Amino acid sequence: MKKLSVHTLSPYTIQVGNNLLLQTATIIKSIVSSGTMVIVSDSTVYPLYGEPLRHRLKEAGYSVFSFVFPPGELSKQMKTVIKLYDFLTKHQVTRSDLLIALGGGVVGDLTGFAAATYLRGIDYIQIPTTLLAQIDSSVGGKTAVNIPAGKNLVGAFYQPKLVLCDITLLSTLSQETLADGMAEAIKYAAIFSGNLLEQIQSEDTNTLLNHLIPSCIEWKKQLVEEDERDNGNRMLLNFGHTFGHAIEKIHHYRLYTHGQSVSLGMLLITELSEQYGLTQPGTVSTLRSALKKYGLPTEITISPKLLYQNSLNDKKRQREGVTLALIHEIGKGFLLPLSLESYWKFLTGVYS
Ligand code: NAD
Repeated sequence: MKKLSVHTLSPYTIQVGNNLLLQTATIIKSIVSSGTMVIVSDSTVYPLYGEPLRHRLKEAGYSVFSFVFPPGELSKQMKTVIKLYDFLTKHQVTRSDLLIALGGGVVGDLTGFAAATYLRGIDYIQIPTTLLAQIDSSVGGKTAVNIPAGKNLVGAFYQPKLVLCDITLLSTLSQETLADGMAEAIKYAAIFSGNLLEQIQSEDTNTLLNHLIPSCIEWKKQLVEEDERDNGNRMLLNFGHTFGHAIEKIHHYRLYTHGQSVSLGMLLITELSEQYGLTQPGTVSTLRSALKKYGLPTEITISPKLLYQNSLNDKKRQREGVTLALIHEIGKGFLLPLSLESYWKFLTGVYS
């Protein structure tokens, strides 16, 4: 088991390893020694892992309640949060109690947002159960829900008290959900490590996950410590996401999953940056073969106008322009701030 300390304004620990779930009660004793725990989960994850967790927490002397909602992005909205607030008040949950997010990024983002706002802030911990949630969304304190105008437009920066990353929980993931997480892992490799990209290409998934997950968490932790509010280098993690979010939106969040859109977004932006000499030739083809290994999509035709229109209301855009996350070569990410005029040129092939 590996322990990492995250030095944010409100510091916390991330524990990564195998078979950690059933040790949760022992591990959280140092955060909350008694009181009420509310497990928040979705109806796919809860039947797999919720009951054993509840049982262990009860054995350790906590009162335990479970709030379970339907899986998927459509649940990540205020209506579910309000149901959760009602549930918490009904069970007289106080500020000295704890919420436990047991699930993927949807559960983690929603629970974190409810924790940030219920009684003006109650503690929560993350037990991420997808690869994406383990290497990305559970670390860094970004919490959010979707509103009709767009994804993640309402939220808060609110750090958890602990992240328990149990790699064993990934064994029940579908191939598609695992691949979604691999798109994010390939993103980390593209930004930070050519060596990791080679391992992604050559190693079997189980061997790979045991070292890939702690490495990605370490990179994320460093960026979060350096730039907790996402105004600087943390934006490197946006590689593939400016176009990826636009692709998801253009297809009404139905045709492509988040990971599939990020896969296409990384390729599209790198094709352009290669064309302008900002990226070493051959980089797109290396990225494409890693993405193909996990069955991620690698071909899309999309007009610059649609990309432009649908990337401009991304919440990461600044008033005066956009900051693109690009790579010079595999393992070397960089940021390119552009005015809106230059961004349009970049998209239409006439940037210089
Ligand atoms: P998800 O939470 O919807 O999970 C995907 C599917 O896998 C769901 O059907 C879920 O029930 C199922 N599942 C989860 N764990 C499982 C397991 N162990 N075994 C079997 N099935 C399991 O999706 P996700 O990809 O984990 O997260 C996507 C969300 O994360 C998006 O809402 C995105 O906006 C958010 N996100 C947030 C951040 C952040 O920094 N907060 C970063 C990236 C993404």
